[in-house]
Amino acid sequence: MTEQITAKIQNTEVNQLLETVIEGGYCVGCGACAAISGSPMKMKLDTEQKLQATIDTSTPSTFSSHAIMSVCPFSSQSLNEDQISQELFSHDGQYHQQIGYYLNTYAGYVAEDDYRDRGSSGGMGTWIVTNLLSQGLVDGVIHIHQRHPSPDDPRLFHYQLSTTVEQVRNGAKSRYYPVEISEVMQLIREQPGRYVIVGIPCFIKAVRLLMRQDPLLAERIKFCVGLICGHLKSTRFAEMLAWQCGIEPNHLLAIDFRKKLPDANANRYGIEVTGLQTDQIVTHSSPVYDLYGTDWGLGFFKYKACDYCDDVVAETADVTVGDAWLPQYVKDSQGTNVVIVRHPIIREIIECAMTERKLHMDQISANEAAQSQKSGFQHRREGLAYRLYLKEQQGDWYPQKRVKPSASHLNKNLQARQMMRVALATQSHIAFKNAVDAGQFSVFQQQIDPLVQKYKQLYHTPSWKRVARRMKRLLVNFLSNFKRG
Ligand SMILES: Cc1cc2nc3c(=O)[nH]c(=O)nc-3n(C[C@H](O)[C@H](O)[C@H](O)COP(=O)(O)OP(=O)(O)OC[C@H]3O[C@@H](n4cnc5c(N)ncnc54)[C@H](O)[C@@H]3O)c2cc1C
Ligand code: SF4
Ligand code: SF4
Repeated sequence: MTEQITAKIQNTEVNQLLETVIEGGYCVGCGACAAISGSPMKMKLDTEQKLQATIDTSTPSTFSSHAIMSVCPFSSQSLNEDQISQELFSHDGQYHQQIGYYLNTYAGYVAEDDYRDRGSSGGMGTWIVTNLLSQGLVDGVIHIHQRHPSPDDPRLFHYQLSTTVEQVRNGAKSRYYPVEISEVMQLIREQPGRYVIVGIPCFIKAVRLLMRQDPLLAERIKFCVGLICGHLKSTRFAEMLAWQCGIEPNHLLAIDFRKKLPDANANRYGIEVTGLQTDQIVTHSSPVYDLYGTDWGLGFFKYKACDYCDDVVAETADVTVGDAWLPQYVKDSQGTNVVIVRHPIIREIIECAMTERKLHMDQISANEAAQSQKSGFQHRREGLAYRLYLKEQQGDWYPQKRVKPSASHLNKNLQARQMMRVALATQSHIAFKNAVDAGQFSVFQQQIDPLVQKYKQLYHTPSWKRVARRMKRLLVNFLSNFKRG
């Protein structure tokens, strides 16, 4: 629970949201609850530097809407991804257990202009929304841009409206950083037009839930573009990278999380940070693998909500883009997208551009698309079932998921990994705050590394176990040969 949750108001739904999602630590900071007209909710960075919903005590406590629980992607009263996507896509699409409904699945990249160079992966994220704009299907693109941090608001990125192709293209790249949608939802209400919004899976789900409540949003948001998501990071992730390059946490001004490195595998990319160092504005870059804490499997600075999420590929989006982490594509340093199409208009745009050779795309199977996110699905399906089981055992409230609580499907080692992942995320927030307070990055490493080493040990089966397994196999073979003889 964050220290900012202090007040409760005379609204049962708001209090329910507070007592379950927010106080339970499951708020992903999307801003949907704050986006309802007249909502008493406000988005704020908490002490762990995660955006969280809080009550704005300066607003009158007469808010009477009953919609707040049904727009929160983690509440017990909102529809799940299957219920939302069934309504939207079941008419034309096929259903796959992992990627949900789909019309077509591809892997490839943009071959025209410099979309691929400027994008994090194959450039499809920016290419799709640029084409929706240039073909007159929308008037504006709502996505993430850099912002100048101020003492009152240190955030480096936010949702913003782009209305020209140049603006859209300047909003390329993945931002592993807290953002929220309440301000842009208000902008859509105030500014008539047709919009496309880009977001990670839980944010797109939140937008769909808001559209069900608000006819104006439903009329104006024409397309939702989803990004595949491993998990969301607090602002500490950016700070951790910058600090190792010599820029202290409160001196960071800008960051590029994904700089392509020539001749390296696509997953061995670099970062670039800009900030103040001895009163000079400096820019440094580094390959991620030279920096501590960049292994996403460790889950440093992860939101708790992400350990209780079962949508990897934005199942409620009209199209989803991500990285094709498949052996046949990962060697290409320029990056390759996996693309899951659910809207017929977007399929037509893509197919047309493939014929014109503007896109270089291979048709892949739904299974291959899912395979490109193998570890994401393991963590958010089998792993999630165990984490839910633990919550159930503790008698705590937890968000209802499509995955059901279970323990028997994981052996002791796999169960221990799940517990360690939760511990690593929790401890990383604490250790980094201690390092900031002490003014030394090494404090973070000293406090978190023992846990990292323990976690890594779980991946090394002790040799005596390997020997025992081999002995067992030999014995079984011997006995079966003996019986046959
Ligand atoms: C938090 C996070 C976690 C991710 N985890 C995975 C993963 O586990 N596996 C995987 O395959 N891919 C993941 N991605 C997606 C991946 O990083 C690329 O964004 C994706 O492959 C698209 O690349 P591109 O070159 O096609 O897009 P680009 O051309 O670079 O365009 C990206 C578009 O997304 C928008 N955008 C960037 N960051 C955000 C954000 N935080 N919220 C909303 N919109 C944003 C940009 O403004 C731009 O419009 C993640 C992305 C994020 C933001
Ligand atoms: S997850 Fe989103 S809707 Fe739910 S409480 Fe947090 S900010 Fe509000
Ligand atoms: S892992 Fe799930 S909850 Fe976390 S940011 Fe991604 S989509 Fe949202």
